[in-house]
Amino acid sequence: MRVKGGIKSRRLIILLGLIFAAAFILLLVFHGKKEDAFSQGENITTLVIDPGHGGIDSGAVGADGTRESDLNLAIALRTRALAELYGLENVLIRQDDTTKCDTESYSEHRDLECRTAMVNDAKNPIYISIHQNNYPTGQPSGAQVIYSTGQGSRELGQITHQNLLEALYPDSRRLAEPSTKKLYILSHVDCPAILVECGFMSNTIDLENLKRAGFQTSIAAILVGSYLQYSQNAERI
Ligand SMILES: [Zn+2]
Repeated sequence: MRVKGGIKSRRLIILLGLIFAAAFILLLVFHGKKEDAFSQGENITTLVIDPGHGGIDSGAVGADGTRESDLNLAIALRTRALAELYGLENVLIRQDDTTKCDTESYSEHRDLECRTAMVNDAKNPIYISIHQNNYPTGQPSGAQVIYSTGQGSRELGQITHQNLLEALYPDSRRLAEPSTKKLYILSHVDCPAILVECGFMSNTIDLENLKRAGFQTSIAAILVGSYLQYSQNAERI
């Protein structure tokens, strides 16, 4: 057993070494390419990551007390970490459990206005809002991407939706959908903009997955990967 354990730990050390080496090489390659691909002159785009809700506004609450605002933030922080790793310009709308409301008492409308202003202030923004779904029954499961009517949103939404389904919800037949007027930020930003419902908090399996760090990192990787895929497609047009 000791021999096996020794081999296992040696393999683990070698594997970790390889992962760190790969990450370091990726960092060098993408950091070098940043100037060419994403930050050159007027073509620079900014990934705006918006963890929905926050502070007094928890959003949906799961049967076990999990707050949507906390899940949204956990996924957004991972998304930002990966964006930084790839050297992508980015803005994180909130970094902690707060709202973006600057009035004395909380106003949902003012909060949405402040978030919208942050998106529109960014240089060539591409907006990804992170939320979780909720439903009166426990049956619905899977991701749902909603895209704004702005130019590029539909393509970004469809790429992201497809990638989420393929990687995390292969049995889902749901489609990306256009937004309705009631989604304030999507109808008030002037850039490619999507809202990603990463899963259903009302579904027991989805909720357990959404709480897992590994699953959150997978979602973050898909969001950044979809953003890169969309950006590279847009450059060819
Ligand atoms: Zn929400």
